[in-house]
Amino acid sequence: MELKICHMYPDVLNLYGDRGNILCMGRRLAWRGIGCEVTKLPIGSQARLSDYDLVFIGGGQDFEQQVLLEDLHRGKDREIRAAVEDGMPFLTICGGYQMLGAYYETYDGQRCDFIGALDLYTVGSRERMIGNYKFELAPESGGSIVVGFENHSGKTRLGSGLQPLGTVLAGYGNNGEDKTEGARYKNVFGTYSHGPLLPKNPAFCDFILLTALQRKYGAAELAPLDDAAEIAAHNAMAARL
Ligand code: GLN
Repeated sequence: MELKICHMYPDVLNLYGDRGNILCMGRRLAWRGIGCEVTKLPIGSQARLSDYDLVFIGGGQDFEQQVLLEDLHRGKDREIRAAVEDGMPFLTICGGYQMLGAYYETYDGQRCDFIGALDLYTVGSRERMIGNYKFELAPESGGSIVVGFENHSGKTRLGSGLQPLGTVLAGYGNNGEDKTEGARYKNVFGTYSHGPLLPKNPAFCDFILLTALQRKYGAAELAPLDDAAEIAAHNAMAARL
């Protein structure tokens, strides 16, 4: 077995070491004897997302989100929408998560029209929502507790038919108001949680990997690993919050 992972916009969307999530996925696959091939799709590259089994998009600041707009609307927008509807698993973080929505309007009124693959939009506020935070995944995303780190000014609102990824237990999540965090649509996992997300949340990592393996191979299982170090890191932060 093997997963082909597409890392979209590694050149502009990679805050706080978001790439570490790909390293984590690759390592947890390798420990089970499952292959992993990572392809980077920077600005200017051609994208045929049906060649892959999982797409990862990291976070970026307002500036980077504006830089990639032209490239996004040269065809990647259609590719992403089609892949999402086809059930392709996506893990998207912060700016990458916002990018799947309809638009992002900065606090001073500059509007980035995104792609509308998910029924959500984001509006910047003067307040920065920053810090370690904790949320509980919805049952359809595995139901585990996730500890993460968020840093955004955008407040995201989900359309009435779109399910959140989870419920905020401590911190801000989508907007600091309605206790929703992220979004789950088909096999898209969108979250505000940066860099160390998967290494210290092994249950969530395996849930995403299993989603991708089952879509590709029909039936798939992941052998348990010794997660003592990962769980200790998770528990230390969960207790602090
Ligand atoms: N520019 C966006 C915001 O501040 C995304 C930031 C990020 O990816 N950390 O809301």
